[in-house]
Formats: sequence, structure tokens, C-alpha cells
Amino acid sequence: MTKNTQQQPAPVANLYQVAIPSPLRKQFDYLAPADYHDTLLPGCRVRAPFGIGNRSLVGIIVGCTSSSSVPRSRLKAISEVIDAEPLIPETLFNLFLWAAAYYQHPIGEALAAVFPSLLRQGEAAPGPGEPGWVLTTHGKGLPETALKNAPRQQQLLNLLQNQGEATTAHLKSLGITSAITRQLEQKGLIAPTTVIQASTAAKPLEAPLQLTPEQQQAIDKVTTEGFQCSLLHGETGSGKTEVYLQIIQRIIEQGRQALVLVPEISLTPQTLKRFSNRFGCTIAALHSGLTNRERALAWEQARTGTAPIVIGTRSAIFTPLAQPGIIIADEEHDNSFKQRDGFRYNARDLAVLRGQRENIPVVLGSATPSLESLHNSRQNRYQYLRLSQRAGNARQPDWSVIDIRRQTLQQGMSEQLLSAIGKTLKAGNQAMVFLNRRGFAPALRCRDCGWIANCHRCDAHLTFHRNPDRTICHHCEHNPPLPATCPACRSNRLTLLGQGTARAEETLQQCFPNFPVLRIDRDSTRKKQAMANMLDQVSTGQPCVLVGTQMLAKGHHFPDVTLVAIVDADAGLFSPDFRAPEKMAQLILQVAGRAGRGSKPGQVLLQSHHADHPFLELLSTRGYSAFSEQLLTERSLTGLPPFGYMALLKAEARSPATSEAFLNFARQTAESFQPDDAQATCLGPLPAPMEKRRGRFRYQLTLAAVERKTLQPLLSRLCLYLEQAPISRTVRWAIDVDPQDMS
Ligand code: ADP
Ligand code: ZN
Ligand code: ZN
Repeated sequence: MTKNTQQQPAPVANLYQVAIPSPLRKQFDYLAPADYHDTLLPGCRVRAPFGIGNRSLVGIIVGCTSSSSVPRSRLKAISEVIDAEPLIPETLFNLFLWAAAYYQHPIGEALAAVFPSLLRQGEAAPGPGEPGWVLTTHGKGLPETALKNAPRQQQLLNLLQNQGEATTAHLKSLGITSAITRQLEQKGLIAPTTVIQASTAAKPLEAPLQLTPEQQQAIDKVTTEGFQCSLLHGETGSGKTEVYLQIIQRIIEQGRQALVLVPEISLTPQTLKRFSNRFGCTIAALHSGLTNRERALAWEQARTGTAPIVIGTRSAIFTPLAQPGIIIADEEHDNSFKQRDGFRYNARDLAVLRGQRENIPVVLGSATPSLESLHNSRQNRYQYLRLSQRAGNARQPDWSVIDIRRQTLQQGMSEQLLSAIGKTLKAGNQAMVFLNRRGFAPALRCRDCGWIANCHRCDAHLTFHRNPDRTICHHCEHNPPLPATCPACRSNRLTLLGQGTARAEETLQQCFPNFPVLRIDRDSTRKKQAMANMLDQVSTGQPCVLVGTQMLAKGHHFPDVTLVAIVDADAGLFSPDFRAPEKMAQLILQVAGRAGRGSKPGQVLLQSHHADHPFLELLSTRGYSAFSEQLLTERSLTGLPPFGYMALLKAEARSPATSEAFLNFARQTAESFQPDDAQATCLGPLPAPMEKRRGRFRYQLTLAAVERKTLQPLLSRLCLYLEQAPISRTVRWAIDVDPQDMS
């Protein structure tokens, strides 16, 4: 036997690091796919074997390496290449990797935030164009009158027979809903498609408004070249949206794209309408109301540049853009920009970072900017732009605080408040009543022994709802049968405590029987068109009373509302959460900002049991700027954000001791990772403000430091360690970096 003495050079088999949807904070190494000789770039989707059996998962290439901690013989090969080219531009992909690391989230799971679910499942990227429908062969073969018993279906069939295809948007405008298209799809008569030439008829576009000097100045100061972050602090109704529109105009004239982040689209169809009334171009809207297919298409329109304007909620920050031009975050103070579970990123903060990395301007706009953004503009990291006047003829409303301490109230509403509503209606105007509690009454109590109906799974009272009568826990949806008598003393004298929006609606309807009372909250807007229908009714300008939760506060423009009444201004005055006063002020001002937006002057009434509380006094007499100034001073004295950074390590378990033990272990670990002159501090473990929820006991450990660079490495090391530690299997744990909500 002859030995082969000629040494073959070892084949350079690339190893790829792949992000796989798994809760582990690591990437997985794979051999290059067999017979695939091109290099796979970061961001490409692949299919790779994972776990036991023949299971394979869609993963994303993160990088390549020549060595692995796993011996090569035990590595498996990528089984299929889905994208030869990455779907996400490199800058954005790197931002994403950064975000997964910064927010301490397992990279594979965080991918769910970036890719529309169709793409996550490994489907090919849909072509550009708008979602629409075509006839199948079966559908084409149908006689013209085949569906005459179902007129809407018949209409859809004929339309497609004549036109070949139609966009979903066009069908909707004709009253053909997704329920109807679904029926025909199920019958195998039509199939989804992508319509390249949007069949929307050209409509006359609205002309830009003549800018006020303040608006003009703001626009002039926003560059269209290079990174710059501006904080646009504009009173409610001062014309911020007009400023965005005109800045966007300049950007799209340069052939570039604008990404606009908003708190919630489905609640404010008006915002979207203002954009489409102004611009004739395709606007990709990304929000929670889309089907998977619609989402993938909107994403693709953004990625290919077919849509010059992309408007979306939080997760839209990860939308790829072919020609990025500007990022705008409207209502930047809004909590919804921070994801509250899973991948807990802050889209507003990522917007600024993305602007920096893409080298494009960023505009953060709000009437009540977050303390973080005000701080950044004071430090000259952001350019501060101010719109202090309302646009057009509108003026800021007058404020008064109603002291309700010794007053007899009618279901929570004072005489003064009810008579102001009456006057408003008589004058032919609209009134808005704000109450941040849905349901009929927040508690059910026994008159004889004081027993209160509580959720047995949560530290919370059950909320009483009408139609049908029932109690529901707003934290876990638990709805036990209504007791006929008190379970503690058998008394049948059960009574309802406090007011929810439904009870306020009932009371207002009794007080003002000749006027419509419209309730806007999560319960009343559950049906798809309900919100839009109510907004339509408000826009007729007829006198009416609107009553609702914070849903009323979000960006609506009601020109005929002249009175805003805040039933309970006290929530937030005594909360343990250090952000509560800031959030309270923002909410009050946003609600108040709905008053007097038209040519008629507005009035704001606040009911309080603490009318002389310094917070309320400062806010109602000197406004948000003075108020936020004082809060910033307090935060700087205590080293709280934005003067320091923090993360919450949360744990929950069936017994409080288990949660606490895990967090004690975490604290000891964190301290052992720190040098003696530790710069990061641990606080806790302490029970969460709502200790018991869904039958689990929740505890938290706060980790804080003056600088991000102290906190970050500690958090990464701690999370990796905890993930491996057996004790972590006794609890559900999570980490929230830069938490917005301490509950
Ligand atoms: P914001 O976004 O700051 O709440 P909007 O942009 O919604 O304010 O503007 C409030 C109202 O003022 C809208 O009806 C808008 O059409 C109007 N408006 C805005 N800018 C001007 C302007 N320069 N001249 C006249 N009306 C304006
Ligand atoms: Zn009782
Ligand atoms: Zn509950």
C-alpha cells in the first residue's frame, strides 16, 4: 500500500454563525451548505437543522468564523439557502444586532421583530406592489351571474372579470370587505396577488398650508443632509403634522424615503388620511391590524423603495429602506414606543441611533416631550425647535381645577362639571369627558361586611361590566360568576364602587337625554369599524358628549370639542413609580389638547381631591415646560433617568420565596462580577408594585449606574450567567433595559 505523502491543503470550510429562533443568548455555528460556493452575507435567511430529529428552522446568518467551540465533526451543515442576497441592508442589520445586545434579548427571538412572519417562515419576499386579488382559473370559468344570490360576491366577481385584478384598498373603498374576499377565496374562485400599478384613480391632492413663522423656522432648521436630531416641541394643535408633511415633501423630492413612527395607527385613521391627502405616492402603513400578507407587502414596498413614505408603529423602526431620507417619531413621549415584553426595545431611542448610523436627520415631535428628550436637547445633543402657538385661529384652552373634596358628586361628577357640559351642548358644541378606567365600576363591595370582589390570581379588584352583568379582572381576564350574595356574610346588599367609562356614559346619557353620548374605550371599539364610525359622527360637528379612556388622548383632531373634562386628575400623584408625575402630566395635557382646536375657544376642567397639590398647581398655572423643568431637577438630585441608567431584572414564580431567591442569587452574582469600588448599584429584590398577577408572585431587582458603559457589560455577563444557572429554571425571568414601566 502506498501512503499518500502529498499533503492536501485543508479545505477552507467556512463556518457560519446563525441566529436561530431560540431563547438562548447565543448564535449557533454551522458548516457551509453542501455544494454552495458563494459567501453568505450577514442578513441572509437559511434553513438549518436544529435540535433532535429532522427538525429544521429558519435562521439568519450573523457572521462567519473559522473556529467553533463545538468540534467540527459534530457541526451540521446549513440545509438550504433562502436568500442569496441579504434582505436587510448591512447598516440596519448591524443596528438590529446592536439592539438585541443592548436590550439583552436572545438574538434569534429578537428577529421576530425584524421580519414579517411570512418571511420568518422562510417564504420568498413578495414582489413590490399592492396587495390585491385575481380570479383563479375556476373563477374565470364562472358565468357572469353565477353568484347572484350574494350581491357583494357577485359584484367582486364581475369587477375582477372586467378588470383582471384589483387592489384590496380599492375593493375596500367599494365596500367589499375582507370577509367577502375570504369567502370567494375559500370557494377557490379568487387568489391573492400583488398589483403593480395601483388602480387607485388619481385624486386631487391637498396643497401645503401657508406656514406660520414658527413652523417656517422649524422647517428651515431641519437639515436634509446628514445626521441631526431635532426635538420639535409643539403645543397640541400647533401644526407639528404640517411641519412633518412639508419636511417629507422635500425628502421625497430628492428621491428619498421618510419613515414616520406613530403610537397607534388604527386608532387614528385621520393621521394616515392626512398623509394620503397630501401625497400622491404609495404610502406603506405597518401596524397591528394587517394580515401577514399585507404586512410582508408593505415591508417589501419600503425595502424596494416603491413606497416613498412608510408610516408605522413601534416595530416599523426595523423596516429596511432603499433610500433612507429621514425618520420622524411623532408623540415621542408615548409609552407605546417601548415594547413591554419579549424584545423590550425602545423604538424612539432606536430611531435616533438609526438616523446616526444611516446618516440622516431624525425629528422627534411632541407637545409634552419626554424628560429624556428634553434633557438631550438641553445638553445640545438634540436641536430644540419650538412651536408655542396654535396654528390657524385656534387658541390654547383655559384651565381650571375643581376641588371636589367636600362636594356631593353624581357618579363621580361634580355639579360644576355637569353644568359646564350642559352649557357646551346648548351652545351647539361638543364636550369630552376623560376617565381612564373602562368597565362600569372598578369594584363590587358588600355594604354589610366590606367584602370586596378580588381576583384570586391577581392583587386586583374585579371590575364590574354590564351587558351582560359580570366581573372581569383587567389583568388576567379571569371572570368568575357574579355572586348573588356576599360570600363572606351572605348579605345580599352588594354595591358598586367607583366609576368606569360605561357608568359615566350611563350617567351622562341620563343627564343629557337629548344628545348622543359616545363612549370610546377598548370595549366599545372592539368591532372593526366601531372607532371609525364614532369618529365620523364626531366629525359631523353636531353637539355630543364623548366619554372615554386615554384612547381619546391620542392625536385626534376634533375641531368642535370646546370642553374637556378630566374626571379624576389624581391618579399618578401618589404612585410609587418615579415616572408617574411625568406620565400624568403628559396624559392630562394630551387630553386637554383636544379642546378648542377649531376656531372656537376651549376650556379644560380638572376634578381633583388634591386641588392644592403642588404638581397640579404647577401644571395648571405654569404649563408643561415649568413642570418638566422641576421634574428634571428632582431627577438630577436623585440620579434617576435621564441622569442615570437602569435595568429591571424581573422574576415571577408560584411562590414569592422562589422569585426572591432567584433575584438574591442574581444580586450576589452581579456583585461578584463587580470590582470592590463598584459603580453599578443593586436595589432589591423587592416585590413588584402588583406583587401577584396571574397567580404568580413577581419580584424585581433594580440595577443602576451613572453611565451606560458601566451597566451594559455587567448586564450582558449577568444574563449569560443566569441563563446557564440551574436556579433560573425555577422562575420566569426577564430583563428590561431602560424600563418605562416599573409595575
Ligand atoms: P399638531 O400635529 O401639532 O397637533 P396639526 O398639524 O394637527 O397640529 O394642526 C392642527 C390644525 O391646524 C389642523 O387642522 C391643521 O390643518 C391646522 N394648521 C396647521 N398648520 C397650519 C397653518 N400654517 N395655517 C393654518 N392652519 C394650520
Ligand atoms: Zn358581606
Ligand atoms: Zn386577575
